[in-house]
Amino acid sequence: MQFVVSLLILIASFVFLAAHPGIFAGLFAFLGILNFAATFIGGKNEKRAPEELENLVENLNDRSLKDNLTGAHNRLAFNRYLNEVYRRFKLFNEPFFVIFFDIDYFKKFNDTYGHEAGDRVLKAFSECIIKHSRRDKDRFFRYGGEEFVMIVTKPNIPPREDAQVIISNLRKAIGDIEVQGLPKITCSMGAGFPNKNKEKESAVKEADENVYRAKENGRDRAYLDKDEVIL
Ligand code: GH3
Ligand code: MG
Ligand code: MG
Repeated sequence: MQFVVSLLILIASFVFLAAHPGIFAGLFAFLGILNFAATFIGGKNEKRAPEELENLVENLNDRSLKDNLTGAHNRLAFNRYLNEVYRRFKLFNEPFFVIFFDIDYFKKFNDTYGHEAGDRVLKAFSECIIKHSRRDKDRFFRYGGEEFVMIVTKPNIPPREDAQVIISNLRKAIGDIEVQGLPKITCSMGAGFPNKNKEKESAVKEADENVYRAKENGRDRAYLDKDEVIL
């Protein structure tokens, strides 16, 4: 509205100048231009509504915790969430565990089919796990490169049994991933469980050791510990 009024003033000042050329009409037209310019610039710099700003901040925050390529949460988000779940485990006895994923022979896959094909597979892999994640319980992160990790909370059966069920289901889902024109991939997995007498990283270390076990023993399998393998 303010914009329309200042535009009308500007037009009127020029009509006046055309009808009565002279110093006063010139001054009037000059002021009309200044008024119009001020309204235009003021309008552009108008403050955003607080709600809009809040949404913007939330959006930026959300993006800074997500991995661009795969849409999984990123490593920073993982570190933060691990701190949080470990704190709740220590203070309130709320159980959690981690599952590590390492795609098998992925370097060879890239070398054979190209990096862009590799990217598509990483994306499809991540989308598959996110699709099979349970809301408010499972959170999925890209740990780095072709390595991913899930943190599971609120198991309604003992954590080890829950891990077995989840890993079996995920292994099936991973086996069903199809990316057009590309062969299927396999993945080695390992579970890790926290211990109140150890650092929070101990669950991650255990999961990592179990992935190593899976690699050593033929890949495309998951270990919960040295005697418990899921094929
Ligand atoms: P292993 O079965 O022992 O895990 O073998 P690997 O080849 O999967 O493991 P290695 O650590 O030797 O290689 C990982 C490869 O993952 C190398 C790298 O090119 C690839 N990679 C990591 N990040 C990305 C990415 O963002 N996009 C693509 N396309 N490839 C990636
Ligand atoms: Mg690796
Ligand atoms: Mg690998």
